[in-house]
Amino acid sequence: MKKLTKLAALLGSLTIMACNSQQVVVGDYATYPEYTKGDLGLTYSPTQSVIKLWAPDAQGVTLSVYAEGVGGEPIEQVAMTKGAKGTWKATLKGDRKGQFYTFAVTTLEGKTLAETPGVWPKAVGVNGLRAAIIDLADTNPEGWEGDKGPAVENFTDIIIYEMHHRDFSIAENSGITNKGKFLALTEQGTTTPEGLASGIDHLKELGITHVHILPSYDYGSIDEAHLDQNKYNWGYDPKNYNAPEGGYSTNPFEPTVRINEMKQMVKALHEAGIGVIMDVVYNHTFTNDGSNFSLTVPGYYYRQDEDGDYSNASGCGNETASERPMVRRYITESVKYWAEEYHIDGFRFDLMAIHDIETMNSVRAELDKINPGIFVYGEGWMAGGSPLPTEQQANKANGPKFPRVAVFSDDIRDGLRGEWMSAGTGGFASGVVGNRQKESIKFGIVGATEHPQIDYATVNYSNAPYANNPTEVINYVSCHDDECLRDKIHQTSSHLSAEQQKRIDLLAQTIVMTAQGVPFIFCGEELYRTKQNIRNTYNLPDEINRIDWSHKAKYNDVFTYYRELIRMRRTHPAFRMATTEQVADNLKFIDSPEGTVMYTINGAAVGDKWSQVLVIYNGSLSGVDMKFPEGGGWNIVCEDGKMQLDSPRTFNGTDFYVHGTSAIIAFRK
Ligand code: CA
Repeated sequence: MKKLTKLAALLGSLTIMACNSQQVVVGDYATYPEYTKGDLGLTYSPTQSVIKLWAPDAQGVTLSVYAEGVGGEPIEQVAMTKGAKGTWKATLKGDRKGQFYTFAVTTLEGKTLAETPGVWPKAVGVNGLRAAIIDLADTNPEGWEGDKGPAVENFTDIIIYEMHHRDFSIAENSGITNKGKFLALTEQGTTTPEGLASGIDHLKELGITHVHILPSYDYGSIDEAHLDQNKYNWGYDPKNYNAPEGGYSTNPFEPTVRINEMKQMVKALHEAGIGVIMDVVYNHTFTNDGSNFSLTVPGYYYRQDEDGDYSNASGCGNETASERPMVRRYITESVKYWAEEYHIDGFRFDLMAIHDIETMNSVRAELDKINPGIFVYGEGWMAGGSPLPTEQQANKANGPKFPRVAVFSDDIRDGLRGEWMSAGTGGFASGVVGNRQKESIKFGIVGATEHPQIDYATVNYSNAPYANNPTEVINYVSCHDDECLRDKIHQTSSHLSAEQQKRIDLLAQTIVMTAQGVPFIFCGEELYRTKQNIRNTYNLPDEINRIDWSHKAKYNDVFTYYRELIRMRRTHPAFRMATTEQVADNLKFIDSPEGTVMYTINGAAVGDKWSQVLVIYNGSLSGVDMKFPEGGGWNIVCEDGKMQLDSPRTFNGTDFYVHGTSAIIAFRK
């Protein structure tokens, strides 16, 4: 017999109910029937609202209808009717638009749980306490039917910009009216105090292809009823997975507003040629027993440890159980919903290793039916131990088992800047000379794929390639987690001059942008942002997290360099090869001195007008004498910390001095 959970044991274990001839044993989740129709939650029409809930181990469910999203007494209460496969149904006659509802589940043991909007509300009142009855068609901005994200041929064509809504627009000098809101990204023509482009115009100027927004579903840590209190949170505390966060709307009390404004944001970005990627956090919930999952089907959505307690691979007190059919279905349907209803172009899975491989393959397969250009990637690790067997985890090492889903490369990240857990240790770009740093950089350059010139045993945290193709790895040097790049460099290289530290920043991003794979930058790195040397800023005030837009003028050299790097990548397929074979055949490393990496790319073989590309990174602080390949005819577009894409310097010799902490990028026609 299957081991029962602690919950079942407490309840006297074998509480059994018949459910369409299938015996449901409370706590033995394998006995819970799978419901495969897509009509859970609300089905609205002007003549009736049909509401369904999946709660196979409930004795009864009461639906309460309210006039308001918070407070007041129910205007109506309905005992829901038991239906097929563990579902409960209620039909509310008439046009119920504008009303709210909750469920109260009574367990088989007779305990009535607290009210919940259920797990499927697509619209909610303030703080996500009650589900709202709306007509989704009312939430579409004008022209929504024709809205479409940028077409993506290969995922390596994507350049990701990771952004928090408040960081981007909240500063006084952002020039943006709707500060900290979805609508901030719809404002055209905004400028910094010095008259330079800010907001969405800045993104267009920078040239990134996709914005990755930090959690924007409804999360729990911000009190939406008191937004004037200036609270900040990253949002990794999910409450309602299928409704937008109210704190980013101009009116969290009115359920359609947040939906409409998020769609306006998507549309504005699409019109600017920019895709929208959502950070999704299905791996855990904000609360345990009080979550909508727990109040609907206690225990089912979470993994339990040997004692029957919540296991905690998320480090946040619980972890979801994607291997259970209705959890897998939930995650897959939720992602599909965002892709279809909100036209979302990609999904970034937080702590993806908590999910099982089959779930990630299911997500990929379902999204492919909508649009194969939707990009999926995630963190190939978890934050604690999990009962999920290692071979089933969607972790980095298992990457080849879930094709066309990318993982973050902490190997190149820490190879470039130094180890995340050690504030004072630098990396290749900050002048740490070592085989491990060099090999980790090379591993990133080949997009974590199989390449004959990589010594995998020497790579930072991996001893084998984990990408089937370079389309399956994210190369980056910083993100919202830990120190931003400037601060990390400051901590590891405080003995160097400010100018020297800036050169490290430029070199590190040059490697990210020239490496095969999918490049990713953290919002504001192009403006040389600082988070005041604070590592974990998830709930710190705007003063720490905001982008200071005066930096655009102050560090315009940094911005210009980033912009030109991005322009080069977008115009040259040599840096965006899509297959492992192309990289193995066309990218050749050349032996070079300690602290440097040198390689050539056969651009002609991949349709680049640069028939041959030469790339040199000198991570050491001092200049190095090196040799260009024989034959001359080189055009140098990057040297000594400067991009000169439109006015390359010609070079016909071989002996070449490479300045300390700098990259050389050159081509032959
Ligand atoms: Ca919220």
